Amino acid sequence: MTSMATMGTTLLETQKLSKSFGGLAAVQGVDFRVEQGQIVSVIGPNGAGKSTFFNVVTGLYRPTSGRVFLDGRDITGKRPDAVLKQGIARTFQNIRLFANMSVLENVLVGEHARLRSGILGDIIKGPHTRREERAARERAYRVMDLFGPRLTDSSNTLARNLAYADRRYLEIARALASQPKVLLLDEPTVGMNPSETEEAMRYIAQLQRSGVTVVLIEHKLNVVMSMSDRIYVLDYGQNIAEGTPAEVRSDERVIEAYLGRRHSTAMAAGLATSIAEQPAAASSGQ
Ligand code: ADP
Ligand code: MG
Repeated sequence: MTSMATMGTTLLETQKLSKSFGGLAAVQGVDFRVEQGQIVSVIGPNGAGKSTFFNVVTGLYRPTSGRVFLDGRDITGKRPDAVLKQGIARTFQNIRLFANMSVLENVLVGEHARLRSGILGDIIKGPHTRREERAARERAYRVMDLFGPRLTDSSNTLARNLAYADRRYLEIARALASQPKVLLLDEPTVGMNPSETEEAMRYIAQLQRSGVTVVLIEHKLNVVMSMSDRIYVLDYGQNIAEGTPAEVRSDERVIEAYLGRRHSTAMAAGLATSIAEQPAAASSGQ
């Protein structure tokens, strides 16, 4: 988690952000804030509006109302490529990679996304000097290195031939290669087994230590509780609670949203476990 010294600068902020699809209010009036260097998580039951929130922040959808600020600058309604250039990179709940490109090439695409408008042919065949190419590769390897040997050892492997967990790491690496101010991860551990999940969480915590600000959508509550500086809880598009893990864990609306009959017992079990793990924090009432 963040030390006090690095906190205090708001990097990403939304004000009363809303998105409706016809009559369905998927995101409703969400006020959200991430400070420089933090890991902030967004949790909530399936269909709560978490991915839609990311989609509006990153310009995939225009908000119905409300505003998005990055580093104090209003970026509401900007297109995804412009948002990426401003410094917000993301991954998707369903992996999106260039399946027939190598690991290295996928990361190079990520670097390129920030610098230019992203026509693929330019990247591979473009008029790069050797020195530029070497510098780009060195940067790519530094990013791949953040995931131990998993990506560097497979740099020439086609993305589609990677193991599932490595494809997820590659997607994060590609996002990081654009040198974002803030990285949005939509369920990065979905489909991973418990030991893979643990490893992924170590890498994500490591990213934070290397200075990356992270917003994390995550279903595995124990994980979220252990690594987040702050947590926002969405339910039916509304932000029903926010605060430190201890605050959120003991919030009655959160317990209701997860333990209430309408939600899955698996989710409830996750929250119950994290409550049981830290009874002191849960009852401290902070
Ligand atoms: P979460 O990521 O929290 O599971 P989503 O943001 O994916 O939830 O979805 C929130 C709600 O918005 C759901 O009811 C979903 O069906 C709806 N929704 C999401 N995207 C669209 C879309 N493009 N068109 C219509 N409805 C959508
Ligand atoms: Mg989602």
